[in-house]
Amino acid sequence: MTGARLRFAPSPTGLFHVGSARTALYNWLAARGGGGVFVLRIEDTDAERGREEWVGGILEALDWLGLDWDEGPYFQSQRSERYSEAAALLAGTGRAYWCECTREEIDRRAREAGRPPGYDRCCRDRGLSPGPGRVLRFATPLDGETVVDDRIRGSVKFANRDIEDFVIVRSTGAPLFLLSNVVDDMDQLISDVVRGEDHLSNTPKYQLLWEALGGPSLPRFAHLPMLVNEKRQKLSKRRDKVALESYREQGYLAEAMCNYLALLGWGPEDGEEVLSKAELVEKFSLEKVNHSPAFFDLRKLDHFNGIWLRRLAAEEFEERALPYLERQAWGNRFDRASFRRLAPLVQERVATLEEVPAMVDFLFLDRPALQDRDWAKLSGDPSTRTVLQAAAELYGTVSWDAPMLEAETRRLSERLGRPLRKTQAPIRVAVTGRAVGPPLFESLEVLGRERVLRRLGEALDMLGGPARAEEHAPPAG
Ligand code: GLU
Repeated sequence: MTGARLRFAPSPTGLFHVGSARTALYNWLAARGGGGVFVLRIEDTDAERGREEWVGGILEALDWLGLDWDEGPYFQSQRSERYSEAAALLAGTGRAYWCECTREEIDRRAREAGRPPGYDRCCRDRGLSPGPGRVLRFATPLDGETVVDDRIRGSVKFANRDIEDFVIVRSTGAPLFLLSNVVDDMDQLISDVVRGEDHLSNTPKYQLLWEALGGPSLPRFAHLPMLVNEKRQKLSKRRDKVALESYREQGYLAEAMCNYLALLGWGPEDGEEVLSKAELVEKFSLEKVNHSPAFFDLRKLDHFNGIWLRRLAAEEFEERALPYLERQAWGNRFDRASFRRLAPLVQERVATLEEVPAMVDFLFLDRPALQDRDWAKLSGDPSTRTVLQAAAELYGTVSWDAPMLEAETRRLSERLGRPLRKTQAPIRVAVTGRAVGPPLFESLEVLGRERVLRRLGEALDMLGGPARAEEHAPPAG
């Protein structure tokens, strides 16, 4: 797409949505894939509240994802003169007119006439001049149709008579999105508009405005499929976790996020889905984007995140996990050297960085964070005391390294007539507080003999003291 000019044009009205991230990524990939230009434009005509914060969120999100732009950010709030000029041009050429109808009047007339709600072109031929309380409306053609030629959805036809005479300037003088969006694309020489499908219904209005403003040839359009949850509902702020920030917080990697977002509506021809940004740039094509809704599948995202976590070099994994560890209540007792010894094993087992602390907290707590459910299961099993007591005896003298601990625990298991797994489970809960975690013997090694023995003793106390002698005997038979 040499010479193409693409833009990402978010409105700073809230937390940055994963759908916006996908739109930004597709624009960026299309630009980077063919020597095009990627423009960033902030559509902030309508965003008084929290504007700075939301703009900050957009910039941070793009930075985190590594989507750099070549031009901008342009801010619509700084270009109001251009929109006024465009509005004056449309009013002057009769393509737009002033209207003084209030919302209530419009609704009442529709109700009384038994029409669906919508504006009835009441002021279209009244020749009103601008004045307080008046809005500027675009005069849509009364017949014919507007055809949107979409690279993803093909040709989509809209009957002009169904397009309301839509407002382009508010009674406050502020331009509406529809106007500023078109004026900017024109001024910024945008050749390709790639945006969410929710904007498809705006596109005939866009095209009519473009033509009325005397624009050169229209940009090409690509409307991206919407994102849906597992119930096939459009992702919504209220129902679903949609803020990119929350995924970042939870310890999803930008590499995984870009990889996963790229697959929401597109797939590589060779089926190899694990792709770096450079590989995506090479393989991505807007022509291959699908039009059916894309399922935002958290499990698949976890899967990709796991893959990308395991691709990190050991030190890099450590580095990225650090903030998640240091912010724990025990963060001040966190010790990097101990963590480092288990980190590669943890790296193999987590889906997000947020899962790391629970895997290693037993190293930094005085007493393990006993999980009620795991402990209940353990304490309800009469053989637990036998196992813990035998382990406590064994671990008092065994030489302290993981292979030796494993070999001796295996022998103990055989002696007790139970599978190794069933011997490991109570020891793990007693020592780490949890039924799942990094491999047990490496964990014991790093924790050290003294603390392991103390924890086994404490667990035995909680279970009511050492087992009775007969419980030591292997089961009969
Ligand atoms: N500002 C619009 C939005 O955030 C995007 C408009 C466009 O991409 O054309 O939805």
